[in-house]
Amino acid sequence: MTNLISRKVTYNNPAFEKMSEEEMKEHQFFLLIDQLKYICRNSEYYSNLFKQHDIKISGIRTFEDYFNLPIFLDKERERISQNESLEKWGHPFGIHLCSSPDDIVFTGTTSGTSGQPTFTYTFTQQDLHFMNQFISHMLSYGRVMKGDRVLFAHALGIYATSSIIQGIKYHGALPIDVDIRNGSESIINYARLTKPTALMTTPSLAEYLIEKYREIYDRPISDLGIQAIFTVGEVGIGIPEVKNRIEKEFGCRVYDYLGEIGFSCDSDEYHGVHCSSPELGTFPNELIDPHTLEPLEISDGVIGEIVITEFHLKALPRIRYRSGDLVQVFTAPCPGCGFTGRRVKMIGRSDDMIIVKGTNVYPTAIKEVITEFMPDVTGEMRIVLNNPPPRIVPPLLIKIEHRKGITKQELDKLDRAIKRTLHERLRVTPEFEWVQAGSIDRSLHKTPVFEKRYEEGMQ
Ligand SMILES: [Zn+2]
Repeated sequence: MTNLISRKVTYNNPAFEKMSEEEMKEHQFFLLIDQLKYICRNSEYYSNLFKQHDIKISGIRTFEDYFNLPIFLDKERERISQNESLEKWGHPFGIHLCSSPDDIVFTGTTSGTSGQPTFTYTFTQQDLHFMNQFISHMLSYGRVMKGDRVLFAHALGIYATSSIIQGIKYHGALPIDVDIRNGSESIINYARLTKPTALMTTPSLAEYLIEKYREIYDRPISDLGIQAIFTVGEVGIGIPEVKNRIEKEFGCRVYDYLGEIGFSCDSDEYHGVHCSSPELGTFPNELIDPHTLEPLEISDGVIGEIVITEFHLKALPRIRYRSGDLVQVFTAPCPGCGFTGRRVKMIGRSDDMIIVKGTNVYPTAIKEVITEFMPDVTGEMRIVLNNPPPRIVPPLLIKIEHRKGITKQELDKLDRAIKRTLHERLRVTPEFEWVQAGSIDRSLHKTPVFEKRYEEGMQ
């Protein structure tokens, strides 16, 4: 018998609480067909694609039929589509745009780490209103109320996270949107001045702020009185040590969220993002094997790459869109709160997956093992690549920071213990390159997974 120790996450729409899984699937299927008809009527890109592949909407009778269709869009094709619309109509949203460009009121891009940004998060007023309700639902769960202030610490501009600010306003709270590019001291300063109830940020920035606050005030950051933290964009709090540290230092619960998809529950242990918005789309039921691109059957614990199909959205709904993100899906009820819907844990980018002697290895899994050895290690690490991924010529080399003042004897023992655990859990036998605490670069942005030494040689 599961002992429910935390508040149960509910679906955004109470109607879903009363539906059986079969009824929910039926409802989603109706939304899917409605959306497919809409995109074919309103976008040249999709109507051509359906003709090219001889896809008839009337022939799609089940989700299985649909999941076996080819991928419609990925980052690369999105860029090509954007270039085409720029040339043809002078707007950057792509020929897969399904609304009039005149109806667009918001656009957000991914941070564009590689090449030309894509305007994936582009909304009409109706879209924005639809998306806002999911953010509001999450804020309610975190007990953020009307009149509360929410410190929003991300790189500002036309980024994906900027749409979240709209959701905070819709909820009736006041976003204090500080740009992280002004540095951590400025963020702390704003927090001291505005006394926010909640903080929305990345896990690595939350950890960075902990260190910075101690450096300036020689005290824990719980001084700020923040009552809830919402993190996004990294694996972060899926690692128990990271979650525990943030919660202990800030003195409050940290929730992880995945855009409008859902959020993690109020449990000491992390049980993944609870997918509380089934009317948003097919996520996370549409998974593929990143190598074969074959659809995967959804069973408890399955790992695969996300393919997204969004319902309801009018401007740029993602339709059989390959995102490049890997997730692990859980179908069993949440052991923490009893939520019965799907839960997901971010595993990383498909590009981050490495292959060591034929075994798929996820850097997150390695980090998870290494952080278990804190405080003998700091938790900072990099996988050193002497050749371009994914295939690693053994041995796998990992650079790890050990704590200050460790003796040679203690380090040898630690080295053996971590290697043994990595071998037992992940069947890898790595070599370690030990470095002093603080010698690996900390980042205000996403923490890199790899140190690409092969690139140094090329410069
Ligand atoms: Zn839960």
